[in-house]
Amino acid sequence: MTKLYNDPADFCDDQLEGFVDLYSDRLAQVPGGVISLPPKTPQVAVIVGGGSGHYPAFAGLVGPGFASGAVVGNIFTSPSAAHVYSVAKAADQGKGVVLTFGNYAGDNMNFGIAAKMLQAEGIDTRIVVVTDDIASAPEFDQRRGIAGDFTVFKAMGAAAAAGKDLDEVERLGNLTNQRTRTLGVAFAGCTMPGADTPLFEVKHGQMGVGLGIHGEPGIRDEARPSAQELGKLLVKTVLKDAPENPGGRIGVIVNGLGTTKYEELFLLYRTVAPMLREAGYEIVDPEVGELVTSLDMGGVSLTVLWLDDELEPLWTADAYAAAYRKQKAPLESIDKNYEVSAAAIDEESLVEASPAALDLAKRVRQASARVADLMREQETYLGEIDSFAGDGDHGRGMVRGSEAAQTAIDGAPEKAGPAALLRIGGRAWAMQAGGTSGVLWGASLEAAAQKIDDAAEDFAPEDLVQAVRTFADSMVTLGGAKLGDKTLLDALLPFADALEAADGSLSEAWAEATQAAQKSAEETSELRPQKGRARPLAEKSLGHPDPGAISMAMILDLLGENL
Ligand code: ADP
Ligand code: MG
Repeated sequence: MTKLYNDPADFCDDQLEGFVDLYSDRLAQVPGGVISLPPKTPQVAVIVGGGSGHYPAFAGLVGPGFASGAVVGNIFTSPSAAHVYSVAKAADQGKGVVLTFGNYAGDNMNFGIAAKMLQAEGIDTRIVVVTDDIASAPEFDQRRGIAGDFTVFKAMGAAAAAGKDLDEVERLGNLTNQRTRTLGVAFAGCTMPGADTPLFEVKHGQMGVGLGIHGEPGIRDEARPSAQELGKLLVKTVLKDAPENPGGRIGVIVNGLGTTKYEELFLLYRTVAPMLREAGYEIVDPEVGELVTSLDMGGVSLTVLWLDDELEPLWTADAYAAAYRKQKAPLESIDKNYEVSAAAIDEESLVEASPAALDLAKRVRQASARVADLMREQETYLGEIDSFAGDGDHGRGMVRGSEAAQTAIDGAPEKAGPAALLRIGGRAWAMQAGGTSGVLWGASLEAAAQKIDDAAEDFAPEDLVQAVRTFADSMVTLGGAKLGDKTLLDALLPFADALEAADGSLSEAWAEATQAAQKSAEETSELRPQKGRARPLAEKSLGHPDPGAISMAMILDLLGENL
C-alpha cells in the first residue's frame, strides 16, 4: 500500500518535484514532464512516457545515452496530448522527435495527437509503439507494452546519442520492438495512493499469469509454483515466441514489479540464465532489477531481446539516466580469466593418524551426526528464545553449522584423525552457519583441534580437558565477552572450570560439569545481555535464557553420553 502522500490528488506532482530537485544537475522540469539538459551536439529527441507509477520508467530513464525527455502522466493515466507536445517541444534539438510508449489506447491517442501538433509546426515526429507482452494478445501489434519498454527506449536513446538520424532511430526502435518479448506474473495487486484496497487481489498461493503494469491482473490464475518452476514457465513461453532469425545472442531482463525483492529476482535468474544458455543463447548484459514497475505490485517478468549486429551495440551502450547508469570503462580493468579457487581439504597435509587417533576419530564422526540431529530437534525452540531480544535465527544457524560440519566430516578421508576432522568440521561450520554463534563455534572447534595430535599413540582424559579449555579460550578471545555477559560463555566457562576441578573418571567429571553448564545457562534468564545483537533489547531479554548458552549446554550434555 502506498503510505506516504499529502493530498492523494497531488501525489504525482509532489513526487516529481522531489525527483527533479534531486537530479537538477542533469534534468529540467518542463510543463508535463522532464527533459535531459541538452547535449552539446544536437541529436534526435527520444521522448518516452505514459502514466506515473512505473518508476524508473519513465522519468528515471531520461539522461545522456537514454531518453531525451519523459512525459509524466498521473498514476497509470496517459498524459494529455498538450503535455506530450510540451515535453517534445522542449526537448527537440532540430533533428526531429520520436515519441515512444507502450501500446495503450489512451497513450496512442494522446501521443498521436501531439505528433500531429508537432508536425504542424514543422517538427518531424515519428511514433514507435512497444508491444512486447506475449500474454496480452496473439497478434503482435495488438499487444501491450510492459518491461519491453526498456529495451526499445534504450535502443533508441543509444542510437540518437550515437548521432543516427531520425529515420534510423525510428527504424532501430521498431526493429528492437519486433525482437523483444515479455511474459510476467503477478503475486499481489497494487494500491493507488489514498486507496484502501488494491486494484486486484491474487488469492493466497496463486499467481496471475500475464500481468499488466497498470494494476491489470493476470490473464489467468494458476497455483504459484517454486521459483524454479516459474523460471521454466517464463523461459519456455518467451522462447516459444522467438522472432524470425533469432540469432544466438540475447539481452535479458528479469524485472521486479515493485515489491518482489531483489533477492527473489536473483533467485529466479539462477533458473532463467542456465535455461537460456541451454537453449543455445549467449546472454549479453543481463539486467535484474526494477526497471518498469507498477507501484507496489508483487510480481516479476522476463524479457528477452534477440540481438543482432545492429542492436547489440545499442543494448550494451553506456547510458547515464537518473535510475539507470551503465558505464563499461571500469570493467576493462578486470581480469576476466581469473579463476576462483576454493580452499579444499588438502589430503596431502593430513598427518598419518595413529590407531588410537583413528578410534577417537570414529567417535568424532558419530558425535557430529548426533549434534546435527539434536540441533534439528531443537531448532524451533532455539529460534524462539532468540526471537525475544535477537533475530530468531539461532536454531537455524546451529542447524546449518552442525549439518555443514557433519557433511564435511563425513566426506573427510578415512585416514583423518580427530584433529583433522575437527579442523574440517569447524571450518565448514563457520562458513555455513552465519551469525555470531556460527563463527564462534566454527573457529573455536578449529582452535581446539590444534591441541590434539593425530599422531599420538594414546590419549589421556587431560587431553580432552585441555581441548575444551582451548575451545573456551578461543570463544573468549574471538567474542570479547566475559562471564555474566549473557552469552554462550555463561554455559561454557562454568563447564570448563568444573571439568578441570573434578576428580574421578572422565565421564563422571563431564556429567558434573554438564550440570554446572545447564544451571548457569538457565540462570542467564536473569541477566541483561552485554554483547551481541540482543544488547540493545536488554529489557526484552530479561526473563528468557540466552539461546547460545542453552544450545551450548545441550550439546555438552549430548557429548557426555558419547564418552
Ligand atoms: P546472531 O546473534 O548473529 O543472530 P545467533 O542467533 O546464531 O547469532 O547466536 C546468538 C548467540 O550468540 C547469543 O545467544 C550469544 O550466546 C552468542 N553471542 C553473541 N555475541 C557473542 C560474543 N561476543 N561472545 C560470545 N557469544 C556471543
Ligand atoms: Mg540470532
